Amino acid sequence: MKIRKLLLVGMVFVVLMSAPLTMAWGANSPVKNELYSEVASTLAGRPAEVWCYDPNTWEKFFSGLDGFAVVSNGFIGLRPLVCSRLAGLVDGNRPWIGTGIFDTEATAYASAVDALAHEAMHVGGIVSESVTECVSGQLVEQTARLLGIEKEYAHQLEGWNWRYVYPARPALYRSRDCPGRWFSGRRVKFED
Ligand SMILES: [Zn+2]
Repeated sequence: MKIRKLLLVGMVFVVLMSAPLTMAWGANSPVKNELYSEVASTLAGRPAEVWCYDPNTWEKFFSGLDGFAVVSNGFIGLRPLVCSRLAGLVDGNRPWIGTGIFDTEATAYASAVDALAHEAMHVGGIVSESVTECVSGQLVEQTARLLGIEKEYAHQLEGWNWRYVYPARPALYRSRDCPGRWFSGRRVKFED
């Protein structure tokens, strides 16, 4: 039991320490994104900083993750693919959303927006992965609008997230009574 506890503490320590460490390594430093930071701060209700990593560092330390959050200081690290999809949306890419097949570009875009909202919800104080993912799913439209995406497409992305992204998340991130049960996201009014 004692060894198990130590291992767990060790793992938490590594996760908490790895962000500042990789930042100090220079060449592979993540890059702070001002827009994503602003969006995450609005969603979280407290200051958050979003950093986009380079593929090598990400695969080395965070392989398999879309993002991580250091709750104590509001630091969010995002997978390079998530960042490039967000950038694509901001740049005006609008992959077609229709009646669709599962593996489309739109699914990847909806997943990226959800990932940003997900990490922001951790910074906002939600710990449970299933509650976090349930709340972030209900914030996809708002997150997309905060990124500057027009209402109609932002709304479609949220629908796409529920239809194809959420059901494909690992079991740890899902719950049977979502989206009915949990919602504590902050809504922002938009001029339509
Ligand atoms: Zn999470």
